[in-house]
Amino acid sequence: MIIITDPSDLTIEQVTVTNDVVITTRATSPTASCPCCGTASSRVHSHYQRTLCDLPASGRLVRLVIQVRRFFCEDKTCVRKIFAERFPSLTLPRAKFTLRLQEALQEMGFELGGEAGARLGRKQGYGGES
Ligand SMILES: [Zn+2]
Repeated sequence: MIIITDPSDLTIEQVTVTNDVVITTRATSPTASCPCCGTASSRVHSHYQRTLCDLPASGRLVRLVIQVRRFFCEDKTCVRKIFAERFPSLTLPRAKFTLRLQEALQEMGFELGGEAGARLGRKQGYGGES
């Protein structure tokens, strides 16, 4: 099973398997580019945790816990002074799902309709309430 789509972006620090699979990761790149001006920065401002739901593994919900860094923008004229690093091969900004989980859920919804897709998703370990 491929856990992370682009392993050059993230390194796995810990995997915990209980009822769910929780994969703790962090970025490997020493820099990130400002989403406004594109300037690369290595000056870290702070960190926070971001949790994404991923495709289930053996019927277990998989969560990626990413240690995200906030950087100072190095361009003094940029309107964005601080920005969070992004993972475009993995997810969209502010999304709670990985891209591949979002695609899988959309396909299920289009093929089966809303309620039937939700039932099948729950049976296959995609999370949600019964
Ligand atoms: Zn900038």
